[in-house]
Amino acid sequence: MPDPRAVDTGPERHHHAVPVEEVVAHLGSHRDRGLDEPVAVDRLARDGANTLPEARGEPLLRRVLLQFHNPLIYVLLAAALTTLLLGEYVDAAVILGVVLVNALVGFVQESKALAALESLRSMVRGEARVVRAGQRRTIASEHLVSGDLVALEPGEKVPADLRVVDATELLVDESSLTGESASIRKADAVLELAARVADRTNMLYAGSLVRAGTGRGLVVATAERTELGGIHRMVGGATVLATPLTSKLARFSSLLTVVIVALAVVAFVIGLLRGESAPEMFTAAVALAVGAIPEGLPAAVTITLAIGVKRMVRRRAVVRHLPAVETLGSTTVICTDKTGTLTTNEMTVRRVWTPDGELEATGQGYDPEGDLRRDGVRADLSTEAALRWCLTAGTDCNDAGVVRDGEDWTISGDPTEAAMKVVGLKGGPAATLDSETLRVATIPFDSERQYMATLHRRSSDGRHLVLVKGAVERVADLCDQWMRADGTVEPLDRAAVVDAVHRLAARGLRVLATGLVRDADPDDFTAEGLRGRVVLTGLQAMLDPPRPDVAAAVAACHAAGIEVKMITGDHAATAAAIADELGLDHRPADRRRVVTGTELASLPEDEYAATVAAAGVFARVSPGEKLRLVESLQSAGHVVAMTGDGVNDAPALRRADIGIAMGRGGTQVAQDAADMVLLDDDFTTIEAAVEEGRGVFDNLTKFIVWTLPTNMGEGLVILVAIVLGSELPILPTQILWINMTTAVVLGLMLAFEPREAGIMDRPPRAPDLPLLTRTLVWRTVFVAGLLVVGSWWIFISEQARGVDLAEARTAAVNLFVAVEVFYLYSCRSLVGPSWRLGLLSNRWIVGGVLVQVAAQAAFTYLPLMNAVFGTAPLDGAAWIRILGVAAAIALVISVDKLLALRLAARHAPHG
Ligand code: ATP
Repeated sequence: MPDPRAVDTGPERHHHAVPVEEVVAHLGSHRDRGLDEPVAVDRLARDGANTLPEARGEPLLRRVLLQFHNPLIYVLLAAALTTLLLGEYVDAAVILGVVLVNALVGFVQESKALAALESLRSMVRGEARVVRAGQRRTIASEHLVSGDLVALEPGEKVPADLRVVDATELLVDESSLTGESASIRKADAVLELAARVADRTNMLYAGSLVRAGTGRGLVVATAERTELGGIHRMVGGATVLATPLTSKLARFSSLLTVVIVALAVVAFVIGLLRGESAPEMFTAAVALAVGAIPEGLPAAVTITLAIGVKRMVRRRAVVRHLPAVETLGSTTVICTDKTGTLTTNEMTVRRVWTPDGELEATGQGYDPEGDLRRDGVRADLSTEAALRWCLTAGTDCNDAGVVRDGEDWTISGDPTEAAMKVVGLKGGPAATLDSETLRVATIPFDSERQYMATLHRRSSDGRHLVLVKGAVERVADLCDQWMRADGTVEPLDRAAVVDAVHRLAARGLRVLATGLVRDADPDDFTAEGLRGRVVLTGLQAMLDPPRPDVAAAVAACHAAGIEVKMITGDHAATAAAIADELGLDHRPADRRRVVTGTELASLPEDEYAATVAAAGVFARVSPGEKLRLVESLQSAGHVVAMTGDGVNDAPALRRADIGIAMGRGGTQVAQDAADMVLLDDDFTTIEAAVEEGRGVFDNLTKFIVWTLPTNMGEGLVILVAIVLGSELPILPTQILWINMTTAVVLGLMLAFEPREAGIMDRPPRAPDLPLLTRTLVWRTVFVAGLLVVGSWWIFISEQARGVDLAEARTAAVNLFVAVEVFYLYSCRSLVGPSWRLGLLSNRWIVGGVLVQVAAQAAFTYLPLMNAVFGTAPLDGAAWIRILGVAAAIALVISVDKLLALRLAARHAPHG
């Protein structure tokens, strides 16, 4: 089937079929200088921002209707309809009220949660690197206009539709557009007019991802005028609010509904057999069912998760997929990068080593004020050839920039490179190539290759030289010789280099080696061609201090039963020194293990898992190996959180239970693959997110612990009355009233509970823990039983005092609600007595209780309510008796809870 979009004949869609010069002219741009700023401003005003309209998601009506799509609600609706047909208007209205209030709360909360999640997407905003008026600039991609010249690098998302101007090994993943998962090579060319979108190899389409290589392109279409806009689809799809827990709950609700309906039917039949009237029995059975159904559950889950997401953002963690909120709470191991996550990524070269010995680099930060000293004496570059070439490699095999910004110095590009540039500046003009020598080709750095090389041509004599810098092992692989101070070249003494690296790395310094090919053949400028031709000129060792507070966050993780493992591309000794400084590995010093990527790769399958489990630091690991690491940890039963920032990290991020990408230093590919993005790239944020994740799960548990017993109690009161054949202590309409008010006004407020102290002092929650633990089942039965006994007790004892039926029932209802209020307070803490939390520490609960009290006052004293619900005013003494009994019940519940906690503590593995 031909793709209907394939051949497109609009004049603006011809860009692939004409030479790039024509496109440049057509768009009034320039192939090197790009657009001028005023032109760009005008075009932005004319064409509008480069954003796609919001994903439409579910239409409003459908979303409203979906609130009713739940077996629990179906039962309620059927009940309402039948009661209506029976002429029980009040009952019908109250049941409908229950349904509507819940649907409304659910709908409002869900919309808020969706909006919040959507707005989170925009927090991790796309940027584009453009050239305007000949200047490189980084702008928000929504400010791109047609004619803009855009530079692309691996890991970036193509921000608009572009015509390729030039490209080096540019590979692009267009799967979000065409479904084709293989990367496609892009280059400048003139193609047939009839070429289909998927075959236009000289075009780059918005939403596709740069996998490798670099290139420049001219914006030909923005916003909805792009191909992506044309097919009206937002990358990433619409947000969904489903998580493993919500599906578990959905299954649970279905099961519960069946049980409850069966009970109601049994009750109905028993009543009929006793000779009660069918309509009366029917309303009773309906009340039983309605009361027992925990219809607040779905809304509570959504609200709690949404609040969790918000709290995480406040702590600088942006959740991209909702299930992450939940999974975070059960994380058992965090695999983290070193550079930038555990450390500040603010590098300063402190030591330089050449085959003639070590030098000290003085100065602070990125300020190029300072010099190089050998044994305290300023080094003279004119007599130190190796040092000169070592610094030159650092300066000219480099894409970073260092600029003065008022008093401060700021950098652009990679901090490792910036540090090398700064130390080069400290070396003075001799430490850089002259202006006659131009860079003509580059082997770019990437995490797999671990070095970078540049080819330079001297215009005076046309000769070439190559500069190399990178990980010591990789550079040493290319070298057979090293250079001495007088410029002579000798065979490389590998042992001496290894020795120097160890000395420097043991201090936690990050060490890079530099190399030179003096008279290079441009044809040999390939990874293979360089082998054996490079002369090692020296080492540069830089300080990258640990971030403040990371040591404390690591300790908090350990206390919480979470292991922290470092996976880094850096040298084993550097990694180990930093890990020690941060207390990363909690095993005794003699059992700490550092494993390198090479060792891992050579391990037999059966030793792999044990080694991965035993090691705390993985050094010189390439992104490709991360996937296997994650899988190994997972098959050992771990719930793995893993950080990553590069293109090649994406598979591991996807595979991890929680993939974590960096918001500042990470690529868009990594961010797309991640479940969570750290806005500040900081390890402490991961720890904070885990803490919040645990808090969210706690609050959900609290709601469930509160709602199940109270709902069951509501159902049981009626069931017992029917079975005993006695007068109902609480009327069906009254049960419905309790049900309608308390779930929303009281129970939901638990979603706002602050985190409990000590939340990071317990082990992670087992992810397969059933929803209904034995403790919960017992609690449900016990509290429900107390509610039933309490309300019967009040009902009977009030009647014995001579009050009429309506008054006795009103007392029973108020007792029921009072116990629910007390029990709500008890549920605020899962791990200890709730009074420790303070009566007022959750304002929402205080507010909810006040509203409920007001509602009960109205229910008891307003004549209209008396008429509708069959209630009667109570006197002060009755209230004292009600509160007394409720308090006694609350006391019994507290004692039971404390006993259960004691018992759990005795059975816990760590006492
Ligand atoms: P982490 O994985 O913890 O972020 P890392 O920054 O050391 O650590 P990579 O960026 O993969 O990981 O770098 C691996 C190694 O490559 C570094 O240890 C360093 O020796 C070398 N290296 C880093 N940046 C450059 C660069 N711009 N040019 C040349 N070599 C580099």
